[in-house]
Amino acid sequence: MPDAVVIGAGPNGLVGANILADAGWSVEVLEEQDQPGGAVRSDRGVDPAFVSDVFSAFYPLAAASPALGALRLEDEGLRWSHAPQVLAHPLPDGRCAVLDRDLAATAANLETFAPGDGAAWQDLHAVWDRVGEDLIGCLFAPFPPLRSGMKLLASVRAAGALRLARTMLLPVRRLGEEHFDGEGGRLLLAGNALHADLSPESAVSGGFGWLMCMLAQTHGFPVPVGGAGALTQALVRRLEHRGGRVRCGQRATEVVVRGGRAVGVRTAYGDAVRARRAILADVSAPTLYTRLVAEEHMPPGLLRDLRRTFQWDFSTFKVDWALDRPVPWAAPEAAGAGTVHIADGVDDLTRFAAQIATKHVPDRPFALFGQMTTADPTRSPDGTESAWAYTHVPQDIKGDAGDDGLTGAWDEREQNLMADRLEVRIESYAPGFRDRIRGRRILAPTTLQSLNANLEGGAINGGTTALHQQLVFRPTPGTGRPETPVKGLYLASAGAHPGGGVHGACGANAARAALHTPGLQYAISAAQRAITRRPPKP
Ligand SMILES: Cc1cc2nc3c(=O)[nH]c(=O)nc-3n(C[C@H](O)[C@H](O)[C@H](O)COP(=O)(O)OP(=O)(O)OC[C@H]3O[C@@H](n4cnc5c(N)ncnc54)[C@H](O)[C@@H]3O)c2cc1C
Repeated sequence: MPDAVVIGAGPNGLVGANILADAGWSVEVLEEQDQPGGAVRSDRGVDPAFVSDVFSAFYPLAAASPALGALRLEDEGLRWSHAPQVLAHPLPDGRCAVLDRDLAATAANLETFAPGDGAAWQDLHAVWDRVGEDLIGCLFAPFPPLRSGMKLLASVRAAGALRLARTMLLPVRRLGEEHFDGEGGRLLLAGNALHADLSPESAVSGGFGWLMCMLAQTHGFPVPVGGAGALTQALVRRLEHRGGRVRCGQRATEVVVRGGRAVGVRTAYGDAVRARRAILADVSAPTLYTRLVAEEHMPPGLLRDLRRTFQWDFSTFKVDWALDRPVPWAAPEAAGAGTVHIADGVDDLTRFAAQIATKHVPDRPFALFGQMTTADPTRSPDGTESAWAYTHVPQDIKGDAGDDGLTGAWDEREQNLMADRLEVRIESYAPGFRDRIRGRRILAPTTLQSLNANLEGGAINGGTTALHQQLVFRPTPGTGRPETPVKGLYLASAGAHPGGGVHGACGANAARAALHTPGLQYAISAAQRAITRRPPKP
């Protein structure tokens, strides 16, 4: 019988499993799909000569994450690669905002939009320099972040606590207007806020946009050499070197509870896997509380909150391409960027978000476009490009803001029409793009969910990033901690604080909560010893 069972081999499950294994626990990970990784996987499904990231692709949060950093995955063969530029946002008039890892280069680009905007970017970065590390420590710790909170408070005092708090709460449109006269800086902030489901007018979209931009400025948007799957492989290898096991094709159907304590997991095959000490669930909050744990073990208030107040994030529609040649961007500055944002301006982003809010499929989708061979030349043959784009659509669709009558049925006809809509959008910034397509793969919301049950309805972040479902409100108003109403059971997925993205903090917080359960202090000291020890090789 293992000490711990982890349900789900996404990055959070695997980080949690590694931390438990470091503490000397035996760990078994049960994964529904035939491969580990959750939304961190790559394959050659579009074209055998091209590596495509099936879901996530760029990892600034992983680069900044203390939890992932402590695992020293480079010792397991993980290597990172960067595109020449981090991010580009071309405009219809040919200008292009560019975020470069060289601060002076970003500032010089923004200066072309309006005099003084380069210095404004450097000012925003100076604040990050003072508080960034402590802020990340604080955001990624379980709530309340006591030790990291004190450190942040000390650094924030110097930077002006009230000003920083205000910046974090601002809608990104307002933040951009306060700092920049030109469109470039405003677009970088607002486009990054829309990496989550935060419209330019929503509270904290300013803080989130600033955070993502500053992570980009400091760490870039790195990608694993060889594909996103290389990150997963490193996590699995590390776990296996410590005696842990990942079993794929094992869908958990029930968390078995005896006397108020989680004692095991039943799988779709009817097997029961007992857990001596803890169960970490890298599944969505609704799945854990309404499908895996029997209702009688759940407080009625929590179930009511899940039904009434829990909000999924936007749904997602993704297309992967194998391109014969690089993307023919009209703005040459976009050619070297790993990520390219497609939107005609901040107003266009607002229009896009408003169409989603009113349950309409956007007619001019905001696209995040990835140039993976530009970021990592191993992804496809010389002179070609492994590319993808995704956009968001509503979870519930009332109508189509475009002319195609899309209903959200996402049958073959609707999938092709929506993929064409994305291609037309890209074509308007890169005339000739469609002529370079050698192969394409469509990942509609239904497809995403079939490949990973956590991506319910195409949601990518385990629930909205909006303020009302963050911190102590995540996943429902409560503690903001990974403990659940069932002893020995921990929510370890992006559904828990601090939410979506590949940083492993949700899994790390769950593992640490399990290790700190009273009576397990010996495990904590073993974990501390393990951290200072170099990982053993097999
Ligand atoms: C299209 C897309 C693009 C994204 N882009 C980025 C990006 O570029 N950068 C970034 O940082 N983040 C990105 N994200 C978000 C990020 O990938 C997720 O937030 C992150 O993977 C969450 O990790 P997790 O471990 O909580 O869950 P997941 O990665 O979703 O993993 C959950 C795992 O649990 C398994 N599972 C679920 N139910 C069961 C069950 N009953 N029994 C057994 N196993 C089960 C699933 O099969 C899956 O393997 C993206 C996500 C998507 C979908």
